[in-house]
Amino acid sequence: MAYVITSSCIKDELCVDVCPTDCIHPKKDEPEFEAATQLYVDPQGCIDCGACVPVCTSDSIKPVEDLTEDQEEFVASNAGFFCK
Ligand code: SF4
Ligand code: SF4
Repeated sequence: MAYVITSSCIKDELCVDVCPTDCIHPKKDEPEFEAATQLYVDPQGCIDCGACVPVCTSDSIKPVEDLTEDQEEFVASNAGFFCK
């Protein structure tokens, strides 16, 4: 896994629009979108390009190596979204 989204995400999909591998979900047209509290990065699809980081106005996307101890739970929650 390269990048993860944290709980400050406001679901505006700015990152979705720039992600070259379409690995950020759920998107507005997907059934899980409404109930989701944030969007998630699929670790199998992320190519570590970093394109999503500068477009995120809430600074919610982090490389795994930059997560604080408090944020490490998001590694599991991002991957977990895609394991349902
Ligand atoms: S750009 Fe940031 S706030 Fe917007 S959906 Fe992506 S992670 Fe969430
Ligand atoms: S780092 Fe690149 S591939 Fe990974 S989620 Fe962000 S935009 Fe998509």
